[in-house]
Amino acid sequence: MELKRLRLGRNEERRLRGGHLWIYSNEVDNAVTPLKSFTQGEQAIVETHVGKAVGVAYVNPHSLICARLIGHGEQRLDKSLLVHRLNQALALREALFDAPFYRLIFGESDLLPGLVVDRFGDHLVVQLNTAGMDAAREAIVEALIQVLEPASILLRNDSSMRRLENLQKEVVVAYGRPPEHVELIENGVKFLAPLHDGQKTGWFYDQRPNRAWLKKYVAGKRVLDVFSYIGGFGVQAAAFGAREVWCVDSSESALALVRKNSECNGVGERMTCVEGDAFDVLKTLKEDGERFDVIIVDPPAFIKRKKDVAEGINAYRRINEAAMRLLGQEGFLLSGSCSMHLQREELIDILRGASRQLERHLQIIEEGMQGPDHPVHPAIPETRYIKAFMSRVYSP
Ligand code: SAH
Repeated sequence: MELKRLRLGRNEERRLRGGHLWIYSNEVDNAVTPLKSFTQGEQAIVETHVGKAVGVAYVNPHSLICARLIGHGEQRLDKSLLVHRLNQALALREALFDAPFYRLIFGESDLLPGLVVDRFGDHLVVQLNTAGMDAAREAIVEALIQVLEPASILLRNDSSMRRLENLQKEVVVAYGRPPEHVELIENGVKFLAPLHDGQKTGWFYDQRPNRAWLKKYVAGKRVLDVFSYIGGFGVQAAAFGAREVWCVDSSESALALVRKNSECNGVGERMTCVEGDAFDVLKTLKEDGERFDVIIVDPPAFIKRKKDVAEGINAYRRINEAAMRLLGQEGFLLSGSCSMHLQREELIDILRGASRQLERHLQIIEEGMQGPDHPVHPAIPETRYIKAFMSRVYSP
């Protein structure tokens, strides 16, 4: 069946020709091709205001980003294109990692906008974050089975992005029997991650290279992991030789897995878990006179939308300052942010401001971003979202 055409306003193809994939609803020539004539997730040929084809996109008349290109050529999103793109993505990950634990598909950056696939060995966790990807779910599942022969595929379609796309939230088994917990290995350390009810896909592969930094800093040290989730940083710190590790999180089930994960790695005795609001817990630790040599602060996104920037920056400032107060005479602070609306310069300024407040000297000694299984699309700044700094903080 032939695809309908979606006409852009004058000059609105420029950003797309420059590599970008998104079309905003105000960029469409609604008089010629009314958005409301498209069904949610329908594919279309995008054309310039004089009718020249730009590429194929899927359309969502209900979303501010009303269409996303799946390529600049003529290919439409079907099983054959999916198999091709999956193989291209797989080739990169297989070259990067020696074990099958990674983000296999990172949406726009892997030219599959709105699709996320995390691989845990034989088990796959998928997020269909847009109407276009939701409409292609059968082809996606078939293509994944063909390329990877997995034991199971779970659709974690419960991200907040789905609301913007007029989609229901759901968690659905698409293939096989996804286990409750899945094993993975990261930086040589074993973990169990919860597939059905964990955060996002169950595990944050994005911080892998920044977690590896810990090897150089933690041997024999006392470590605090704030917003630990299931112990990504904290359990690795213990496995890398920390004398003692404290993990802080508000989720009881996350901390239960911190305990399990530290036991799996034979470091259970060095682990202490504290359940509670991180802001309160850090205050109490200070009052109790606790001190740490290395502190990790890797919070959830405090800035979800642009309008939350001021409030979010304030939260990052308060938590980083509270953490710095718990460092001894000399200590190391690993500060991360996954808010795409927080600029790296802003996080640097937060660290600077907090250290001045405490009359300490702060030196940034490492800077990181998300791992290479989350490639950056050069035209889409939102795809570069993780910031991470390792700093030494001391009294001069
Ligand atoms: N650092 C983790 C990822 C953190 S995800 C890793 O490397 O895997 C964010 C975590 O913060 C979640 O586990 C969530 O339960 C927790 N959280 C959210 N708000 C919190 C708060 N106010 N106090 C303590 N923990 C909080």
